Amino acid sequence: MKLSTFKKGLHPEDYKYFSHDQAIETLSLPDDVYIPLQQHIGTPCEPLVTKGDRVKTGQIIANSDSYVSAPVHATVTGVVKDIQKYYHPLGMRTTMIHIQRDGDDEWELLEKIQDWKWTSKEKLLKTIRNAGIVGLGGATFPTHVKLNPPDDKTIDSFILNGVECEPYLTSDDRLMVEHSDKILLGMSIMMHILDVQKGYIGIENNKPEAIARMQKRVVELGYPFTMVPLKVKYPQGAEKMLIYSVLKRKVPAGKLPMDVGVVVNNVATAHAVAEAIVDAKPLIQRVITITGDGVRQPKNLMARLGTPFKNLFDACDGVKDDVNQIFMGGPMMGMTQYHLESPVVKGSSGIVAVTGDLVEEITTFPCIRCGACVKVCPINLMPLRLSKFGQEGYVEKLDDFGVMSCIECGACAFVCPANIPLVQWIRIGKLRLREHTAKTAKETT
Ligand code: SF4
Ligand code: SF4
Repeated sequence: MKLSTFKKGLHPEDYKYFSHDQAIETLSLPDDVYIPLQQHIGTPCEPLVTKGDRVKTGQIIANSDSYVSAPVHATVTGVVKDIQKYYHPLGMRTTMIHIQRDGDDEWELLEKIQDWKWTSKEKLLKTIRNAGIVGLGGATFPTHVKLNPPDDKTIDSFILNGVECEPYLTSDDRLMVEHSDKILLGMSIMMHILDVQKGYIGIENNKPEAIARMQKRVVELGYPFTMVPLKVKYPQGAEKMLIYSVLKRKVPAGKLPMDVGVVVNNVATAHAVAEAIVDAKPLIQRVITITGDGVRQPKNLMARLGTPFKNLFDACDGVKDDVNQIFMGGPMMGMTQYHLESPVVKGSSGIVAVTGDLVEEITTFPCIRCGACVKVCPINLMPLRLSKFGQEGYVEKLDDFGVMSCIECGACAFVCPANIPLVQWIRIGKLRLREHTAKTAKETT
């Protein structure tokens, strides 16, 4: 069978074998959780609780009036010990609500929906917002916003993203194998909200068990969804790449999937939507892969948000003595971690610990103009130029060369024989361009 895929991209070595056959294990309740006020793209939340308050599992503890935002919830039952800055997986200290657990869960659930098929779109969207659901594939964009495109956009297709193309991660894979029915239900609910009839499920061909399970349940439950097994290629999980792979539609630079009539959502997000709408449960936990050759017993854990990373490693018999790098989210797009007290957040799909055998000392050389970075860029950018402009602060050129279209997939840096940290400079370039745009806007008002 000829498998579908997108143009360019690459195939990094696969390390999913560490954890892909590890069934999801529920982590025991942590004694302390640290809940960041911002775990989404959009306006940060403001605390609704103060030190000393007793909170129940599922209770909204921080929220915002802004539409593009998502509330956060207590993920255990206990007492608010403090609201202050703690280490965040993104590397800085941010404001978090520290809750000390004082017993088992006492639940505060969402408003119960009797029959979602007969419930208004507005009420379903409100419930999804109250549940705090954001894109769990890592993008963390609020789901209620994504499911409510402007009236001038016509959406005709929905793609369920089961790609999980980061080489170590297996949390989505296990979720599809073990919770296929709930994922498919979540997909149906999202398509109902969008009033879309055509649904596609994109899964890379290195997850045969997940493809078989999802396909079987689609047929048995009578869903009119089309399974699309995909050739393994990085970064196929990025929305623009997936839309091309599945529908052969190109999302132009600066445009969004909805501009080509498509909404994409990750399998874990679909699962969370079903939990909210059918079980009235807000987003208080997620599946996270703890893996790498530096972990004694790699696992896929269902962990409460706010659980310190240290607890996750403890549940995996700890890390080996020769671990020399830990990152959150996979090696291609992930962030190096320096503090194991950092908590699980909504966007945490995995934590990878690697030993000296898998991490080389990197020496950077001058560019040899081989063109490998250009050849591999799935967005057709010129990474070498962008990185140079970012480094030297040429903001107009950064804009001209489309820096904001970069999805920071890391493919260019991965293939660069000179080991130039292309993505870091591109990120700095984006920051410089944003600052320049804001400054110019201020000066002209
Ligand atoms: S320039 Fe951006 S989109 Fe292109 S390969 Fe590099 S990180 Fe990926
Ligand atoms: S891959 Fe590296 S060495 Fe080759 S052109 Fe790009 S930046 Fe230069």
